[in-house]
Amino acid sequence: MDHFQLIDGALHCEGVPLETIADAVGTPTYVYSAATMDRHAAVMQAAVAGAGAGEPLVAYAVKANPNAHVLARLGAAGLGADVVSIGEYRRARAAGIAPDRIVFSGVGKTAGEMAEALSGGLFQFNVESMEEARTLSAVAAAQGRVAPMGFRINPDVSAGTHAKITTGTADNKFGVPAADATAFYAEAAGLPGLAVHGITVHIGSQLTSLAPLEAAFERVGELIAALRAQGNDIRIADLGGGLGVPHGPGQPEPPGPEAYGEMVRRVTAGWNARLLFEPGRLIVGNAGVLLTRVVRVKPGARSPWLIVDAGMNDLMRPALYDAYHRIEAVRPSGMNQVVNVVGPVCETGDTFTMNREMDRVEEGDLIVFRTAGAYGATLSNGYNSRPLAAEVLVDGDKWALIRRRIDPDALAGVDEVAWR
Ligand SMILES: *Cc1c(COP(=O)(O)O)cnc(C)c1O
Repeated sequence: MDHFQLIDGALHCEGVPLETIADAVGTPTYVYSAATMDRHAAVMQAAVAGAGAGEPLVAYAVKANPNAHVLARLGAAGLGADVVSIGEYRRARAAGIAPDRIVFSGVGKTAGEMAEALSGGLFQFNVESMEEARTLSAVAAAQGRVAPMGFRINPDVSAGTHAKITTGTADNKFGVPAADATAFYAEAAGLPGLAVHGITVHIGSQLTSLAPLEAAFERVGELIAALRAQGNDIRIADLGGGLGVPHGPGQPEPPGPEAYGEMVRRVTAGWNARLLFEPGRLIVGNAGVLLTRVVRVKPGARSPWLIVDAGMNDLMRPALYDAYHRIEAVRPSGMNQVVNVVGPVCETGDTFTMNREMDRVEEGDLIVFRTAGAYGATLSNGYNSRPLAAEVLVDGDKWALIRRRIDPDALAGVDEVAWR
């Protein structure tokens, strides 16, 4: 459930008309609903409450939407953070998320990143290779510390999602092969700088079936037993993120967090391990829209081109992953049209949809791309010397600009010449 609805014929975010926001800050602008984020955080926490040994830690995947005010809101709602760079670590800390609620994932952590996160404090490192484990041990030993860690297992399970958001097959760069796990844990347990108590898995994003997740978790359960049998003290199982969100009619309907929680309870029943979760999209995806204005309507061979002022630089998901976004008029007339919706960027890939039936709109009208709260603003860039979209947070009948639009002049202003 989200909090974007028509009130008196105009689309609102909670109590705020989107027209008010467009008038005040312009377009394109990302608009987030705080109530929706709070709700998703609560639903996810309730779905896994009581599972595993001790209270589960739900660590929000910061990369989905790293805005400082989004993080602060989610931290206040009880979530920890899953970070994949020192930049995300700093953002999580700056937003008030306690170090013992932060996990550090990612396949290419540098020694410098490890050193800063270790001295600043964290729950654990999720380590993706034996080579990385050796570096982490050396970094920790140099500080006179012991780094808490678990290996990320690559279970060789296909997530059944888009290839570019699949992470758990043998051909993906992520994790260590399950077949190597016992040898790697044995070696890591002997390294002076490591406290090896975790195991983790994350097989992909926008999953619309529980079966691949269940298969991956079964694999983790088998490994926990094998690792304990060889003397490793495994206490923590981090089950990653990946649960998909509904994108609207005609799109695959993912299982809800409750069904996910039930499956987790069943599969992990005998594990006697503390459970962690790393949801990103589930928390923020449907809490955001991208608000944009129709610049021009141009005749096309099959359908007219609706050229909007948001481009692939603002919302990359359709170009990157063939992602579907529901598109709605902010003030629907009740009439429909079949159009191609495109941005102004000089790339054929700057196409949001072709031959889509949607609300009829004209030049100057406002529309929204739904389900844009995750992997939206964070993936944006200044290609074609375009500004970076503004971001707005709505809370009830109040709203705040939480990132101002970054002018192309500001981006051009960091170009410099310094020959040596
Ligand atoms: C991206 C990522 C997540 C979050 O994935 P969602 O599909 O947004 O839930 C969780 N864990 C890791 C390691 C990731 O890379």
